Amino acid sequence: MNDADGTTAGDTSGDLARLAEGPRCECGVFGIYAPGEDVATLTYFALFALQHRGQESAGIAVSDGARTVVHREMGLVSQVFGPSDLAALDGHLAVGHCRYSTTGSSSWENAQPVYRESGLGTRLALGHNGNLVNTAELARGLEPAPGTDSALMARLIGERTDVSLEDAIVAVARELRGAFSVVVTDERRLYAFRDPHGLRPLQIGRLPGGGWVVASETAALDIVGAVLVRDVEPGELVAVDADGLRSRRYAEATPTFCLFEWVYLARPDHRQDGVSVLSARRRMGERLAAEAPTEADVVIPVPEAGRDAAAGYAAASGIPFADGLVKNRYVGRTFIQPTQSLRQLGIRLKLSPVREVVEGQRLVVVDDSIVRGNTSRQLVAMLRAAGAAEVHLRITSPPISDPCYYGIDMASRAELIGADMDVEQIRAFVGADSLHYLSLDGLVDAVPERADELCTACFTGRYPIPVPAEDARLAQVAFELDA
Ligand code: SF4
Repeated sequence: MNDADGTTAGDTSGDLARLAEGPRCECGVFGIYAPGEDVATLTYFALFALQHRGQESAGIAVSDGARTVVHREMGLVSQVFGPSDLAALDGHLAVGHCRYSTTGSSSWENAQPVYRESGLGTRLALGHNGNLVNTAELARGLEPAPGTDSALMARLIGERTDVSLEDAIVAVARELRGAFSVVVTDERRLYAFRDPHGLRPLQIGRLPGGGWVVASETAALDIVGAVLVRDVEPGELVAVDADGLRSRRYAEATPTFCLFEWVYLARPDHRQDGVSVLSARRRMGERLAAEAPTEADVVIPVPEAGRDAAAGYAAASGIPFADGLVKNRYVGRTFIQPTQSLRQLGIRLKLSPVREVVEGQRLVVVDDSIVRGNTSRQLVAMLRAAGAAEVHLRITSPPISDPCYYGIDMASRAELIGADMDVEQIRAFVGADSLHYLSLDGLVDAVPERADELCTACFTGRYPIPVPAEDARLAQVAFELDA
């Protein structure tokens, strides 16, 4: 338990999770304004529901109107909070956060909520999901340099003394470029705002007793018994206090929601734009079956994100569905440092084949994406070792060819197998009998947004928000072509 300057030893709970090579989301956020409710415990449960979005650290800041107390530690939500920690967080107003680091190191100092003095004599706590692309520009000249883009945001807001906190948030939000779904509280109000592109989700819910909550995914609303009201709109700030919820548009909306949230990041029970992720993933599987019909005996998912798509593939193709891979749910949920021998176990730490399902069978194996290719290669080899007669890999997204700068830690371009190999080369590398990726049109067709309302940059290289690193790279390519 600590106020702004509390100290707690860090750990490396994310290291083992990093053994798996899949993409990593940056964070989950939650905010609540609910007089008369145990807001600390509700936030704790909400963070449980958002745990998949960040597993390195967790924190909750609670205010009773006069004082804000923050508890944050490295580790999973269940490791960070015990009954006595929650009992000490007393108030009616809270923000919570679970983190995976892509900007700044994985350390206690960078755990959120960020907590600092505001220039107005109050204290503010801030939780951020996303990633800014103009951090260097905004941080120029600041001493000491903020450790993360989220700390930078809190500092820029907190240093304003000439306007109200709400106006300070609006002024700073207008300067930010990139992905940001943010919750902020001082001792009086809960604020939530979302970048004009709405790259990351952020939704508003209402509690039965009249309180308000804001969360990264609807699963967090469900777990606290809140009813989904609507999204925080791209370019919108909402403020909640004793007078209820107010909305303020601070920028024109130019929505480009992250397509990869649908493929992999969000929980299957999350609902976005009126559609559940589960049903969208089923449609991805159905379209994949139509685009790549296969002579096979059984369809198996790579758990967990491939599960609903595999069910869709099986239903559309008439090929039976079976669980041919069992996931160890506890990998990444330990404090043990990965040793070289643990690393060599690779995917076997995470997945085990069910021999009765795969032996002698022609398999359709449905997965969400291929990043570097090493996991798929190990997976195919493992299925063959378990007796699979054929392995046909079906992927519910197009090849990932470009890095994400908006809060998803995939890999650098040099590490992305889709950046410089074609599909046949990738098939040969992973050792599958056949490989098919869902087309971009097929994927877009499976989700509710139109193509021009989605970010597809990691599949197409078309970045909806200019990225300085990409501009520099393209300038270099142009220079080399000219030379
Ligand atoms: S680049 Fe890919 S992962 Fe990143 S926001 Fe765009 S669609 Fe999502």
